[in-house]
Amino acid sequence: MPPLVYLQEKTNSKNFRKPITNFRHRYYPDVTVSDWNDWQWQLRNRICTLKELERFVQLSDDERQAFTEHSHRIPFAITPYYASLLDPENADQPIRRTMVPSIKEYIKSKGEAEDPLGEEGHSPVQSLVHRYPDRVLFLSTNFCASNCRYCTRSRMVGDHDKAILSRENWQQAIDYIAEHDEVRDVVISGGDFLTLTDDSINWLLAKLRTIPHLEILRIGTKVPAVLPQRITQGLLRILRQYHPLFLSLHFTHPDELTDECVAACNRLADAGLPLGSQTVLLKGINDDVDTQRRLYHGLLKARVRPYYLYQCDPIIGSSHFRTDIEKGLEITRGLRGFTSGYAIPTFVIDAPGGGGKIPLLPEYRAGEETDSMLLRNYEDKTFRYPK
Ligand SMILES: *Cc1c(COP(=O)(O)O)cnc(C)c1O
Repeated sequence: MPPLVYLQEKTNSKNFRKPITNFRHRYYPDVTVSDWNDWQWQLRNRICTLKELERFVQLSDDERQAFTEHSHRIPFAITPYYASLLDPENADQPIRRTMVPSIKEYIKSKGEAEDPLGEEGHSPVQSLVHRYPDRVLFLSTNFCASNCRYCTRSRMVGDHDKAILSRENWQQAIDYIAEHDEVRDVVISGGDFLTLTDDSINWLLAKLRTIPHLEILRIGTKVPAVLPQRITQGLLRILRQYHPLFLSLHFTHPDELTDECVAACNRLADAGLPLGSQTVLLKGINDDVDTQRRLYHGLLKARVRPYYLYQCDPIIGSSHFRTDIEKGLEITRGLRGFTSGYAIPTFVIDAPGGGGKIPLLPEYRAGEETDSMLLRNYEDKTFRYPK
């Protein structure tokens, strides 16, 4: 058994957050509040080059080399809003590490692959992954508002040649779902579906809702974290028409839970959308109980129910992000019993080779006696349950 990780405040944890208004005044003095709060302005003004990034942060040698000596496999792009959360001085700050390239991305380690989840092998038409009996993954676009360096679909993000966004590809996927009446659930992901226009979003949701056997629709998105301005009344009016519609929101770190982000989650919850979260376990970024608990407590307050904690997928150049599997078990063990069950996501590994998500739990069984099962509680005390 690993040692028990008790919940306690880390005294040295610095919650880095500077007021976004100050950031806007300093770096975008001529930009009006209404432009700043316009999601399309945010997308048009993404930070995509070394030169732009240098305006906000002091680059480390490692970060600079990543730009000057390599061309990125995963495109580099950050919305001005999300850039306001980067620590200008500390290259090891969690959010900064998830967004700014490192030369470590160019080290290929054993077991890493372009498509570790074998999604292409389960792809009956270009925009779909059909791995489980009753649900499909719909890859709606390859565009994201900000690009995570550990992206599980790094093979396709920003790859404009594939143009999976074309209506023709969408139509093929819709036809496939319509012809397969065992599919009762579709997860719309990408890329990030909510970066598309209201019209495109409405078009796809409307088409999917004409399929009688589709019971629930889901959208996987990081927009509330990286582009909360996108959650407009216009978008909510569209989403509200397609219930039951669930949202899985990608969050990495409690520093993402700004007032803007929490307000966006509240708008979504008020529109009746059940909200879940998905988090990737990342070394040195969120791989401790304190950070995880702060994230999940913050999410619950924003009415987002932690859903999955993922072991980091072995995409090429991910070894600096990956923890060992014990880490996720240790975190689960440090949460269960110590805090609300609602604050505890299921720890899963998406099995390389296309096995799908496999849940892992710490071992709470302590053995057996003739008449009873021995069980260990969260405090490491043993209890008997009669057989
Ligand atoms: C994660 C995933 C789903 C959804 O799985 P749930 O456990 O139902 O959330 C569906 N299809 C694919 C290919 C997935 O990776």
